[in-house]
Amino acid sequence: MMSNVRALDRVKLVRAISDRPNRAEVEAAFRTIIQWTGDDPSRDGLIETPARMARAFEEFFVGYSQDPAQILQKTFEEIEGYDEMIALRGIRFESHCEHHMAPIIGQAWVAYVPSGRVVGISKLARVVEVYARRLQIQEKMTAQIANTINDVLKPQGVGVIIKASHHCMTTRGVHKPDSDLVTSRMLGCFRDNSLSRQEFLSMAV
Ligand SMILES: [Zn+2]
Repeated sequence: MMSNVRALDRVKLVRAISDRPNRAEVEAAFRTIIQWTGDDPSRDGLIETPARMARAFEEFFVGYSQDPAQILQKTFEEIEGYDEMIALRGIRFESHCEHHMAPIIGQAWVAYVPSGRVVGISKLARVVEVYARRLQIQEKMTAQIANTINDVLKPQGVGVIIKASHHCMTTRGVHKPDSDLVTSRMLGCFRDNSLSRQEFLSMAV
C-alpha cells in the first residue's frame, strides 16, 4: 500500500514537472512580482533580476527532479554483524515553507539501527537535501525522511529530528527571531524502545 501511494506521488510529481512553465514565462512572472512591490523591473539594477531569480529557484527546488529512494539503493552488507545505532548529526539544510516560500534554515539528525546492511553515510545527508529542496512544512519533511529510510533500508528502526527556524515567523508575521521548531519521527525500535529513543534524543536536543 505504502509503495503504491509513493508510486502515485511520483507519477503526480513527474506530471507536474512536465507541465512546468518555461523559463520565459517564469521570468515574466518575476517581473510582475517586482512591479507589484512598487519598483520598476526595467531599471538597470533590476533588469537581470528575473533571470537570476529563476536560476536561484532552480537551485532551491532541485529536489523535485531527484528521487530520494534511488539515493539509498546502494548498500553494504559486510558489517561484521554491526547492529548498533548509526547517527549522522547536525546536517545543515535550507528549505522553503510551502505557505510563504520563506526560508526554513535548520539542522537534521538522522539515525537508524541497521538490519544486516548499511548505506554510505553521505547518502543520509543527501536524502535530507532532496526533501529540503522542495516546498515544505517541517512536520512533513521529518516524516518523509524517516519513511523513505524505513521503506528502502528496512532497518530495525529510524529516528529523525529536525530543529529549524522559519523565516515566515522570524522576519515577518509574529517576528519571533529566537524561536525554533523541533519535530521528530521515530519508527521501529526508536518508537518501541525508550532507551534507543533517549540515546538518540540526547545527541540532538
Ligand atoms: Zn511559512
